[in-house]
This record gives sequence, structure tokens and C-alpha cells, in this order.
Amino acid sequence: MLEFKEALKRVLAKMPRLGVEAAELAALNRRVLADPLYSNIDLPVADNSSMDGYALRAQDVEGASRDNPVTLEVLGSIPAGELSDAELVPGSCVRLFTGSFLPRGADAVIMQEDTQADGNVIRCLDQVKPWENIRFKGEDVKNGTLLIGGGTRLSARHLGLIAALGKAQITVSRQPKVGILATGHELQEAGSPLAPGAIYESNRLILSELVRQIGCEPKVYPLVDDTMEATQKALSVAAAENDALLTSGGVSVGDYDLIRPAIEAIGGKIDFWRVRLRPGKPFVFAEIGGKPLFGLPGNPVSAVTTYMVLARPALLQMQGAVNIESEKRLCRLSEAIENRSDRPHFFRVCLDEADGLSSAGLQGSHALQSLSKADGWLCVEPGQALSAGDSVSVMVWDD
Ligand code: AMP
Ligand code: MG
Repeated sequence: MLEFKEALKRVLAKMPRLGVEAAELAALNRRVLADPLYSNIDLPVADNSSMDGYALRAQDVEGASRDNPVTLEVLGSIPAGELSDAELVPGSCVRLFTGSFLPRGADAVIMQEDTQADGNVIRCLDQVKPWENIRFKGEDVKNGTLLIGGGTRLSARHLGLIAALGKAQITVSRQPKVGILATGHELQEAGSPLAPGAIYESNRLILSELVRQIGCEPKVYPLVDDTMEATQKALSVAAAENDALLTSGGVSVGDYDLIRPAIEAIGGKIDFWRVRLRPGKPFVFAEIGGKPLFGLPGNPVSAVTTYMVLARPALLQMQGAVNIESEKRLCRLSEAIENRSDRPHFFRVCLDEADGLSSAGLQGSHALQSLSKADGWLCVEPGQALSAGDSVSVMVWDD
């Protein structure tokens, strides 16, 4: 049985790297940036006003106050989005709005609230410092600056910056197509009353959303019965149609656990079986025609935990992501947690607002309610007894 860290190393060493493609801006979220992104323009693109007000020469309103207003002639008005060839001369100003580009000769903007308009003149009721209320060309981003490193997983926070550069497409890694299969004679689709002996299938949905969150394109297959024929056929089809496969169930030692023999029967290779972790020991890593297969255990929590620990980093590496580890958060235990088993145990845990950590509830590998409540997982080593107050690092979900 492999230690899970060793298992992850073996998985990562075998992962093929996908190529790159151009993606439209609207399709960039969650994709992995292929190359470093440099700015091709300055932001702001020109000196502009941060206020609704008037462009002026600061020296013209030196000493201005409510008791001692300075009157300036308004030469014109520049709505945001318009250019003007107005040039300020002493004693003049130009009407501006937030974002309006600055006219020549101006070195400050007085906010509208500090002025009184009267026909084609204004009275300035305050002075302004040189360059006050002006946003300078390039002060946010200089042309040629490295903005986002290659291998970054793009998320909403990056998209405003990318959109502001005006590029129509960005080069990203190809999205792994991930085939998602569930095996089990007892499994039934939602939407009709349960047949005697059946249970509703739940792994494909959670797994397909988890892979979508890391930029993959899930393809969900019909339920696979526990026969060699059905299992072989389903695996062959899915391996041909995808870049990687996630299967659930059928990887243990029971008479109906057919994933391993079916992989071998269709010419695939098992790399390893069984990993020292809890829940999820019977995990299989294999390949069929060069496509990696993650054989997750059927128990819903085992499937998700092994996905998070072993498959998620691999699917990110396939996309060339620099950061393939789940986010970790430093927390303090609010209660004691002990691992009496001989395998590292990934406990489902909840975080409170003060980053205090407690068990999310029933820890059995079938217990979906505690999974739905958990903010993340705390890995406790075999024999380790953690006490309330201990500081620990927690692996959290993507969402
Ligand atoms: P297996 O790994 O096939 O032996 O399944 C272990 C346990 O997980 C059994 O109780 C199964 O009924 C259950 N199980 C397997 N696959 C699924 C699934 N896709 N959805 C919900 N439960 C499942
Ligand atoms: Mg089964």
C-alpha cells in the first residue's frame, strides 16, 4: 500500500501535459494562462479626471476660498469619451467629468462641489494642489509590465484587468476533457421512485462540478452495471473520448469490483492500487491508451477525498498550472480530534468565523451530510491526538 504523498508523486510523474489554445475573454474564467501576460498599453491610457469638475491651472486658484472666490472662464466641456483641442490659458477652465481626458495646459481638477457655475464662468470656492484629482497615464499599469504569470489559474479577479487591455483572445491551456463514470448495479438515476435494493447515484454530479471548478470539461456517462462486459465497454468508450477518466466504485476486493480486471482486459495498465489514507484506501491509478484513469472508491466521501488529494492536483498539472495544491488555511482547533486508525485520516471539518475548527459531523465514508457542511479537510496522522487550541492547517474546497 502506497503512502498518499508517494502516490501523488507517482500520479504527477505520469500526467501528460495538454497543449494550448486561444480562448475568448468570456470563456477565460478558471482556465490556466499559458504564457506570462504582459500589458500592451498604459492604464489609464491618458491623464484623466477622477472627479466631476473643472480642469484648471492650480496657480490660478491659489488662495481661493468661500470668502475669497476666484472666477474662471469656462472654455468648453469634455464629456468622458471625447477629445478636445481646448488649451487652457491663464484664468480659464474646462468642464470635465469622471474619466474625461485632461485638456492641454491643465494641471489640476477642482471638484464641482467646490465651485459655483454662473453662465460661462465659475467661481472657485477652494484652492487645489497641482495634479489634484488627476489619474495619471500608466500609474496603474505601464505598457510592457508583467501582469499575470504563466500557469496562473484565472478567476474573476483577473478578468477585469485582462478585459481592460482590449485583447480579444488569450492563450490558455487546453481544457482536459474528463470522462466521469459510476459503476454499481444498485445505482439509480434521480427522478423516479427507488427500486427495491437500489440507491440514488450521487458521485457523478459532485465530481463533474469539482472538475469544472478547476477548468476541466466533464463528460458524464450513463451508469455502468457491475458486469465485465458493461465495464469494459464503458471504459473503452470513455478513454477514447476524453483526456482523463474518473470512475467511482468497483475498486475494492468484492466479487463485483470489476474496474481493475476490466482495465487490464482492454489493454490498460494499473500503475498502483491502494493508498494509505482514510477514507479512500482502494483508490486505483491506471492508464488506458495513454489516458490517465483515477479509479475512485464508490463511497461518496471516499470518492471526493481521493479526488481532492490525488486527482485534482493531477488535472491541474495537466493544464500546466503552477499552483496545483488545494488552498490551505491555518486554523485553531475548537475541540480535540484523534486518529486511532493506522492511516492518515482526512476529517471533514467546519470553520467558524474566528477560524476555529470543529468536526463537521459523522465521519463515515458514506456520510454526505457532513461533507455538505464541511469547509474542508484536516489530515490527522495515525495515532495523532490533537487538542483544542492546537494550530492546524486545513485543506479547503475550491468554491
Ligand atoms: P463500491 O466501491 O463499489 O464497493 O461501493 C462502496 C459503497 O459506495 C457502496 O455502498 C455503494 O452502494 C456506494 N456507492 C458506489 N458508487 C456510488 C455512487 N456513484 N453514488 C452513491 N453511492 C455509491
Ligand atoms: Mg460497487
